[in-house]
Amino acid sequence: MDFDFHIHCAPYSTCALQTAEEAIDCARRAGVETVAFCNHNTVSGLNQIKEICDKKGMRLVSGIEMSVSLKDVTGADDLVLHLLGYGFRMDDKRLADFLIIEKQKHRDRIRAMSEFLMQSGYRISVCSDKKELRRQLCVQEYFQDEKDAKRFLNSKEMQSKFPLHKTEAKTFIDVVHQAGGIVVWAHPNSAENHKKVNIDQIGQFCDVLCGDGLDGIEVFHPNVIQEAGLPEFLLSEAEKRGLKVTLGSDSHTVSKEGEYFTQQNWQKEFDYDYQKIKQFWEE
Ligand SMILES: [Zn+2]
Ligand SMILES: [Zn+2]
Repeated sequence: MDFDFHIHCAPYSTCALQTAEEAIDCARRAGVETVAFCNHNTVSGLNQIKEICDKKGMRLVSGIEMSVSLKDVTGADDLVLHLLGYGFRMDDKRLADFLIIEKQKHRDRIRAMSEFLMQSGYRISVCSDKKELRRQLCVQEYFQDEKDAKRFLNSKEMQSKFPLHKTEAKTFIDVVHQAGGIVVWAHPNSAENHKKVNIDQIGQFCDVLCGDGLDGIEVFHPNVIQEAGLPEFLLSEAEKRGLKVTLGSDSHTVSKEGEYFTQQNWQKEFDYDYQKIKQFWEE
């Protein structure tokens, strides 16, 4: 039996180019029998995904990927990390409410930005969606393309005027625990916007996250296994700290035949008993 505990799908992850149905079919072809869809900052769609999984005979573990920040970690102020929540009750009211409030805070910030730009003379209308704001700025020809507009909105000046709303890791971990789930640190060597996290920082963050109640590390991830020595380091950290180890493809698109990221494809490279991952999820 194979598994994949990190899949994205459209429309719930806006960056994903595959539907849940396509993702499930693709995983099935690769021999996967248990999946977790971890869409960005949302549990929307999990009920629909569950129905599709049931129909296709795929086992589903509830999941989410949340962008979080760490409090008081020197030099890590600008790093937004990704945490994966698993196995929580899909209808948990507290978790759903928490996600709505967090989302609203992001929207309020974009709204304030758009209002500020209007006051500064930009011919745009009020909006609270960042893609919409970028689109408007391009339509009005203030910027060549969305990338340009994004660069402007992410500039130091705009960021200091409108600081990013940060979800604290501990708050997220607590909410998921209360919903009966566990929390795993996703791809520890990469933070949001593809920022690299070096091995010293990983150790440092691991200390903080463990203090916050972290349950596991995603060791088997495409980004992690590419970095020489990193999987071994993470496995030893997990062992030392009593953390669970997980595996996920982080797939956003349908992968080509034979290229699916599952343990079967590369397990020979690492001396690890994959049964441990399997056993953990079957508990
Ligand atoms: Zn991620
Ligand atoms: Zn992801």
